[in-house]
Amino acid sequence: MSTPQLRNMGTVGGNICLDTRCNWYDQSLFWRTAEGYCMKTHASVVCRVATSSPRCLAVASADTVPALIALGASAVVANAQGERRVAIADLYREDGISYLTLERGDVVTAVELPLEEGWRSAYLKLRDRNSFDFPIVGLAAAVRLEGATVRDARIAITAVASRPMLVAAAAKAIVGTRLEDEAIAAAADAVHKAARPMDNTSGTISQRKRASRVFAERALRSLRDGS
Ligand SMILES: Cc1cc2nc3c(=O)[nH]c(=O)nc-3n(C[C@H](O)[C@H](O)[C@H](O)COP(=O)(O)OP(=O)(O)OC[C@H]3O[C@@H](n4cnc5c(N)ncnc54)[C@H](O)[C@@H]3O)c2cc1C
Ligand code: SF4
Repeated sequence: MSTPQLRNMGTVGGNICLDTRCNWYDQSLFWRTAEGYCMKTHASVVCRVATSSPRCLAVASADTVPALIALGASAVVANAQGERRVAIADLYREDGISYLTLERGDVVTAVELPLEEGWRSAYLKLRDRNSFDFPIVGLAAAVRLEGATVRDARIAITAVASRPMLVAAAAKAIVGTRLEDEAIAAAADAVHKAARPMDNTSGTISQRKRASRVFAERALRSLRDGS
């Protein structure tokens, strides 16, 4: 993700808590002053992407998050009262403004990964520039194999809604299978159904929806073939 300079300076905690993105919001003051603001900065103004939307639809955009969700990771969250563990998947809300479930004073102090014995994982992203860029679709898949049979699976997507999310139906479609092409196609269908991109980042809605299906197929084939 990102550039070597940003990766060297940025933290995992910062990436997990990265703000949502939107083509309307991520502009210079000059541009915003000329075009006008939106709900994300001015509560009384409509969302410019979907004027009847009661909430901001800005897009979850961190690459580490779907990969961590697929691996079953948890965040250690500390505040003045103590410490708690929160599944990474539960850190987010489907709301482009109030996108984290963290409260004021909460700090992510660590990320914990469960033992990964028997698990294989993959992350694929679509982006404008291959050198560095945010995902406009991101998909992470992890499977635990016994022989060639899938015993457990997690598939997570990002950049197609305001929160990164687990697609339980996709995992269900492959558990108990040997990742035959039909099972992979069923999982990819579930991912395609769950992906709800809006027209507020690069790419088109249909391109990003199609890409989510293609990435599910590619990721699961690569896990099956060990490539
Ligand atoms: C040009 C560019 C390209 C980028 N491309 C990508 C990309 O391709 N993929 C990608 O995933 N990201 C990308 N990023 C985002 C970048 O990786 C993140 O901004 C970076 O990881 C943030 O880390 P940071 O430590 O600097 O956090 P900060 O920017 O300091 O913090 C981000 C937010 O998280 C909060 N925060 C930080 N640490 C914690 C903590 N421990 N607990 C609670 N809250 C915390 C801060 O208050 C702030 O709201 C890009 C950024 C730029 C500028
Ligand atoms: S999705 Fe709507 S409210 Fe949110 S930043 Fe974009 S234009 Fe503003």
